[in-house]
Amino acid sequence: MRLTTLGTGTVSLSPSRVCAGHLVQRGAVRLLLDCGSGVAHRLVQQNLDWAGITHVAFSHFHTDHISDFATLVQAWRYGQLPPRSAELVVIGPVGTVDLLRRMADLHGDWLRQPGFPIAVIELAPGATHDLGDGMTIGCTKVPHTDESVAYSINAGGRRIVYTGDMGYDPMFAEWARGADVLLCECSLPEELAIDSHLTPARCGALAAAALPKHLVLTHFYTPVERTDIRGAISAHYPGPISLAEDGSTFEIEEG
Ligand SMILES: [Zn+2]
Ligand SMILES: [Zn+2]
Repeated sequence: MRLTTLGTGTVSLSPSRVCAGHLVQRGAVRLLLDCGSGVAHRLVQQNLDWAGITHVAFSHFHTDHISDFATLVQAWRYGQLPPRSAELVVIGPVGTVDLLRRMADLHGDWLRQPGFPIAVIELAPGATHDLGDGMTIGCTKVPHTDESVAYSINAGGRRIVYTGDMGYDPMFAEWARGADVLLCECSLPEELAIDSHLTPARCGALAAAALPKHLVLTHFYTPVERTDIRGAISAHYPGPISLAEDGSTFEIEEG
């Protein structure tokens, strides 16, 4: 599997980090995890196969994770010739069907019926879905909003876990244990800590319990970038740490 972090920022606007979005590729599968503002253009900037995306998975319904979905659907329908004909699979927590209906209320019926089929999979915590080409996706509930989930993407004996947005949760650490890559939100500095997001120290505590082979940090509000993120985490967790940038690529070798 290849992971590309497209959007490593938030609504704490940064000149170098757009809102949340990450692409996982393996075989013919192009799985976009979240689709916040700026992600559609990052796909093009990184020369990635935006037209060939097969799946979009929403971790939750905050604007910084969903707002470029309409842009992408419009691009597939009206931004290329010929327009897209292949099915798109949208995966999300319970409520995703209603989210797309409300998006269509806002943007127009083309969003729900863009001339290519859109299948919606509402994935309950603990359930898994077959992505094709030997890949599966599963999710677990995380503390952030009522619907928020974290995802586990499995293929070839390897595993990427993506937190989405979340506060500290030891149950999540147990679920994520031993992941090859833990793509982990790192929103806020200690002095701005809240229960629905992580700080570097809380990322460190989570990683110390989950023991990923590689901890990849994302979803930075700008104040946290002025702190010693790496130092705060390595006080807890001894493994490799990467601070992802928009366009960083991580190869997860198999076998
Ligand atoms: Zn959020
Ligand atoms: Zn967010």
